[in-house]
Amino acid sequence: MNDSPFQFNPTATELRHTSDPVELVPSKRMALPQVTMEIEDVPVRRFMAKYPRFEPKLRDATAVSTYKTCARKYFFQLVLGRVPREEEVYFAWGSAYHVFRYVLEKEYGYGPERPAKFDQAKAVEAFLTAQKEGVFYWKTKSVAPAPGSKWEFMTTERLIKSFVVAFKHWQREKLQGRIEVIAIEQAFNIQMPDGSHRAGRADQMVRWNRKLWGRDFKTTTKDTKFFSRMLEPSEQFTGYTYSEAKLAGESVEGQFVEVLYNAKDTKNKKHGPEILELTTARTPWQLEEFENDQMMVNQMIKLNRDADRWPMFEPACPFCPYHSVCIKPTEQAMMAQLEMHFRVRPWDCTKINGD
Ligand code: SF4
Repeated sequence: MNDSPFQFNPTATELRHTSDPVELVPSKRMALPQVTMEIEDVPVRRFMAKYPRFEPKLRDATAVSTYKTCARKYFFQLVLGRVPREEEVYFAWGSAYHVFRYVLEKEYGYGPERPAKFDQAKAVEAFLTAQKEGVFYWKTKSVAPAPGSKWEFMTTERLIKSFVVAFKHWQREKLQGRIEVIAIEQAFNIQMPDGSHRAGRADQMVRWNRKLWGRDFKTTTKDTKFFSRMLEPSEQFTGYTYSEAKLAGESVEGQFVEVLYNAKDTKNKKHGPEILELTTARTPWQLEEFENDQMMVNQMIKLNRDADRWPMFEPACPFCPYHSVCIKPTEQAMMAQLEMHFRVRPWDCTKINGD
């Protein structure tokens, strides 16, 4: 349920699913997951024809970024809904931190519910609840990082230390009172001029100096210089700024990106936890270009779908999880690899943390 007090402009947006749930009937050979989002019609099945399609009509930053990275990757991940059987530990790490931030803000109160002046006792109470829920999520969902790997530092102890550092940072901001949080986990579903839908969920909407901004929480092992390069161009941050402005019915300046940095400690240096604050703004021209580019991408995806042909984009291969599939010499061998190492979990951007 969306309990946000954030006021949106109902003429510019709609916060609902685009259609009734789609029910898929399991075949005798393969038990299909039930999906509740609307999926694209498939005019022709040419490639890996026996697999069901789960391509969501609602496109979010993950779907579009994946397509821009490689159409074949989009086919595996978004159309077939196949993901690696073993999830990397950093997904649970990032999600546990998001749970912590969400509960902290919700318990303390935001928008009209927030305390008139900083309330220390309430803040500590909110922190303890948020910590408990964040750690619970972590312990339920995480897998142990491989010994010696760069993720080795991702332990419960480091997670709790990270929560404490983030809380101190949050507390300072509340004491200063410059930034007002007006919405958390704000879902959006924006209709674009071509009739397509752009969806997502903003971590926060905030007001600073009377201007509206989005705020996104990230976890990273990269240093500030490297991470800063990911702020612009950025499909996600431009898309959020575009969508949040439509949702609010007023201009949104850009995104505050608050990053929790942690990395494996080296002999002479500790690497986190530390909070980095970054800002990325967008001009009206950039948002107009984004809208037109997005509609062009929609046409490109339709072209792929109509022919059921999803070209490989080889420059993206070295770091791709589907590499072991794409190196197979035949379609049959590719399918065998997919079945062995990837499970079916259709992408649904309307759900939080894949729940
Ligand atoms: S391995 Fe390369 S071609 Fe295959 S899905 Fe990944 S990026 Fe695309």
